Amino acid sequence: MNWRRLLRVSNRSFLAFIFFFSMSTTCLYFIYVAPGIANTYFFMVQAQGIILRDNVRTFGQMIRLYTNKNSTLNGTDYPDGSNSSEYLLQPTTYLPENLSGALTFYEGSNGGHWKPQDCKPRWKVAILIPFRNRHEHLPILFQHLIPMLQRQRLQFGFYVIEQSGSQPFNRAMLFNVGFLEAMKDQDWDCLIFHDVDHIPENDRNYYGCGHMPRHFAAKLDKYMYILPYHEFFGGVSGLTVDQFRKINGFPNAFWGWGGEDDDLWNRVRFADLNVTRPEGEIGRYKSIPHHHRGEVQFLGRYKLLRYSRERQQLDGLNNLRYTPRTSISTLYKNISVDLHPELAPIQDY
Ligand code: UDP
Ligand code: MN
Repeated sequence: MNWRRLLRVSNRSFLAFIFFFSMSTTCLYFIYVAPGIANTYFFMVQAQGIILRDNVRTFGQMIRLYTNKNSTLNGTDYPDGSNSSEYLLQPTTYLPENLSGALTFYEGSNGGHWKPQDCKPRWKVAILIPFRNRHEHLPILFQHLIPMLQRQRLQFGFYVIEQSGSQPFNRAMLFNVGFLEAMKDQDWDCLIFHDVDHIPENDRNYYGCGHMPRHFAAKLDKYMYILPYHEFFGGVSGLTVDQFRKINGFPNAFWGWGGEDDDLWNRVRFADLNVTRPEGEIGRYKSIPHHHRGEVQFLGRYKLLRYSRERQQLDGLNNLRYTPRTSISTLYKNISVDLHPELAPIQDY
């Protein structure tokens, strides 16, 4: 028995149904998918435009360099980025050839402190790394950073600030804790705030400070080596101790992923400071891929960011209390701290 006759539908209306059904699903498909396609397309066009512009600039730089008799190839990248030779130099390779050999120097050293013996270092740099449950990233970071910093002839020490407890991750508050603890060790004059999963590709990305705060991680592979937005200040940034005190440190009120780096940008701008970045290829980073299992986004960040200015002097280094547990290992000092909102009381906002 034919089921269509059973349902009393004619052949014609059945075909009409099929036709309209497929039409409407096609329409729905395009309504939902087209914006995504258009978005990707516009991004690609924009990216190509930026790459093209960069290439033109590189070419211009090279011509200028070859025709200008007074220019020098001194091979240093100062934070004001006035060096025109950098476009000619290739980035060094990403992975050191001898992974285990790279760190032999450190045997017997305490807390990862190092200083050059053949010169007076220009900066005493404390490298602060916010941390929870990313153990596999740490050795990769050290393998890359330590040889680079040694070549840059900087005095440095590593601080891994680890959040314990069950609160959402608070990257900014960890940096504040790290700063206060590091200053008990040494009179550091330059602070680098360093995500554990960011690996510099070019060892001419000089980790010293300057007369202005610096954003080192300007070009990330995960963003197609394009700065996602002009105010982006995440990943790796650096301030002198004076600059950091002047802006009252990081905000403590950002619990979970996102927003604290934008707030730091606002603080810097409200303190009449500007942000410098490495030029050209120098600010390139690889980011170690990872998941966000069990980590929450901070949805309140947009509201807090509207009141950055009002919060700046109320929330930061000046309202923070904490009890750290510190331990020293060969490569770094571990500062473990249980964070919760009562440690940084703030009335409004
Ligand atoms: N982080 C961590 N454990 C976490 C979340 C963050 O150690 O559960 C630290 C780590 O240093 C990381 C940084 O905070 O590089 C920034 O967080 P995340 O990598 O999650 O940010 P995203 O790469 O997604 O911007
Ligand atoms: Mn990351």
